[in-house]
Amino acid sequence: MKVLVKTDILGRNENAAAENAALFARRGIYALNLLGSPGAGKTTLLERTLTALSGELRMAVVEGDLFTVKDAARIERCGAPVVQINTSGGCHLDASMVAAALAQLDLTALDLIVIENVGNLVCPAEFALGEDAKAVVLSIAEGDDKPLKYPLIFKESAVAVLNKCDLLPHTDFDMAAARRDIEALHPGIAVLPVSSRTEEGLAAWYAWLRAAAAKKRDVR
Ligand code: MG
Ligand code: ZN
Repeated sequence: MKVLVKTDILGRNENAAAENAALFARRGIYALNLLGSPGAGKTTLLERTLTALSGELRMAVVEGDLFTVKDAARIERCGAPVVQINTSGGCHLDASMVAAALAQLDLTALDLIVIENVGNLVCPAEFALGEDAKAVVLSIAEGDDKPLKYPLIFKESAVAVLNKCDLLPHTDFDMAAARRDIEALHPGIAVLPVSSRTEEGLAAWYAWLRAAAAKKRDVR
């Protein structure tokens, strides 16, 4: 596991994002910027994904957190290459941080890189990292009012994963309303109710990822 801290990494976001995108294109790597609140279940979703798809996609992960290597350690246990970025209190990843992390990975034999952003529904949506798409994870426990309160992240994301569906019987979360609001904010977005805990609905998420990675690989 490699660890980078914010002081290592400076630079202008737009240029760095374009350079990251060019690098992903040259290598035929699909890059996904994974967004969501702290506790939405981003890392658990990733653990499930790495385990389920390890036989068909070559995957690596960039982990963004303010502090600790807790998430990178979890990813490492799944057998995937991982670089942890510690922002030292910074509330989002920027493209130069990701560029520094990419320099620590072997990019010659990868199909998919997932960049798990800092847990935050606000500014991570504003900083391009050079990714092919953004995915937002919203958990049932956060409430069905969040899409309209935090619209940008849903407008920016190609897919919204509604996680922890196993909690639906214990909450007032209105799935139909959440879906309606998300689709109103972003017509055409994929809305995928799942439970990483019970694995309900994950097949649709895997299918989405498979199709996305295949599209990028075909242009290589
Ligand atoms: Mg995490
Ligand atoms: Zn921020």
